[in-house]
Amino acid sequence: MARKTIIAGNWKMNLLPVEGEEMVAELKERIAPRENLEVVICPQMALVPLALDWLYDSGIQLGAQNCAEKLAGAYTGETSAELLKVLGCHYCLVGHSERRSLYGETDESVGGKTQTLLNMSIIPIVCVGETLEQRESGAHFDTIGAQVTAVFNKVDPEAWTRLVFAYEPVWAIGTGKTATPAQANEIHRFIRERIKELAGEIVANATSILYGGSANASNAADLLGKSEIDGLLVGGASLKAMDFSQIIASFK
Ligand code: PEP
Repeated sequence: MARKTIIAGNWKMNLLPVEGEEMVAELKERIAPRENLEVVICPQMALVPLALDWLYDSGIQLGAQNCAEKLAGAYTGETSAELLKVLGCHYCLVGHSERRSLYGETDESVGGKTQTLLNMSIIPIVCVGETLEQRESGAHFDTIGAQVTAVFNKVDPEAWTRLVFAYEPVWAIGTGKTATPAQANEIHRFIRERIKELAGEIVANATSILYGGSANASNAADLLGKSEIDGLLVGGASLKAMDFSQIIASFK
């Protein structure tokens, strides 16, 4: 089964309604829907219902940046996966390194949120990756291996082929330092091998693994050219239509 290529923009806590609307209007002028490529935009939560309108009939999919593990109830400030579904989200990021480091998300809670999203038929983009310290001490394979394993421990086997992963080395996020295409490809191959051990070859071959970490118009083509890299998760460079559309155009 051919893996889907996905280029997703993570707007993080940026862009007000006017700015988001302008960005999407310009993006729609710059890109045409392509059958072999899924483009996704993940705005901050309060923009999600507006973005559904902005993206109408564009072929660009809507994603969220986070959701609650619990289904509903007394969880002030949280957003349920069910609401995301009703609001039109096809995708949701899970376990972004900012959520793990700033908001205490663990491998287990990331696994739980992933299952919650799958129950709502939302595709989770599960972010994994090592810190600089972990890479320098040689702990990166163990760290990433544990992050991936925790997801498969929590997710029902029938949903395994609906998972998407994003390898995001923490030292490359928002720093301007990109993993080299070879470094990224090595980790993507490791993730796929781990998936194969946990879930078998069919699931491993079907799983899209995106790269994220200072991806931009200059490095996107080289990253996307690697055999194990099935797309990009883009932060800073997804905020401007010109930059994001150039990244999208570099997928051949
Ligand atoms: C991200 O936050 O997911 C990300 C990849 O950010 P940036 O592209 O800015 O490094």
